[in-house]
Amino acid sequence: MSGTDLAAEIVADAARRAAGFETRAGRKPCLATVLVGEDPASVTYVRMKQNRCRKAGIDSRHVPLPATTTTAGLVEVIENLSADPGVDGILLQHPVPEGIDERAAFEAIAPGKDVDGVTMSSFAAMSFGLPGFVSCTPGGIMRLLDAYDVGIEGKHAVVIGRSPILGKPVAALLLARNATVTVCHSRTTDLPSIVRSADLVIAAVGRPEFVRGSWLKPGAVVIDAGYNPGNVGDVAFEEASGPAGLITPVPGGVGPTTIAVLLAQTVDAAESTID
Ligand code: NAP
Repeated sequence: MSGTDLAAEIVADAARRAAGFETRAGRKPCLATVLVGEDPASVTYVRMKQNRCRKAGIDSRHVPLPATTTTAGLVEVIENLSADPGVDGILLQHPVPEGIDERAAFEAIAPGKDVDGVTMSSFAAMSFGLPGFVSCTPGGIMRLLDAYDVGIEGKHAVVIGRSPILGKPVAALLLARNATVTVCHSRTTDLPSIVRSADLVIAAVGRPEFVRGSWLKPGAVVIDAGYNPGNVGDVAFEEASGPAGLITPVPGGVGPTTIAVLLAQTVDAAESTID
């Protein structure tokens, strides 16, 4: 399953809608990016997101903050962006430095600007199957499944990982689409036998080549959300591509769809201010 191709389609649509918004509103959609500290990987991610925004006709307003920023200081910055009518979406690059209450900072994002889908409000909307912004990686995964006509209803989906930005929200989105969902984590016993009963496997573990080909039911659809050093996924791709009916590669699978969903949701947020 090519995430690169799908991401190009999503971004092209977002760019077309961004241009339409600019015509009607007299300004481009705007994504504010907040980066606390100078972690090299985070700096790279934020720059990549800004570049993608620019290419799609979306303005980005970057707010760099020192690593010494307090929770109260960060919350104030985000509250100001939440109240700023010139900002449509807010992205707080995470993880934030230790000592900052990340949840408090996320919750300062106005729900209507939560284009990264990190607030409790967005999580509740995903859980209830209501409209709202989705977490970007889970959103990209759902779009991949739909683009490849993978039936979800009634299927047994096994999600490996339960992080608040990936495992839990993708489980919620799959459940809202009537999959039978099993969420596994580090305390799960006999993971291989659970995975063997899956029609759909979502690997979101953060351990290179953790899911083995021998764990898979023939024909299973395998989504590898993992991204480990050296461009290695959470699934042993060579082994898994034998039994798997469909599988996402790393790189070029889930990764590109994540930023594409961020851009699409930023345009959605902008459009909602004038529609
Ligand atoms: P995370 O917060 O570290 O969560 C990892 C999850 O895996 C946890 O729920 C953990 O269980 C579980 N786990 C760890 N060891 C396990 C084991 N032996 N058996 C079963 N479950 C185990 O990671 P994350 O942020 O969700 O990211 C997961 C992966 O996705 C990483 O490779 C990350 O780089 C990648 N990612 C990719 C994108 C993208 O854009 N493509 C975006 C975000 C993340 P516990 O809860 O019990 O600790």
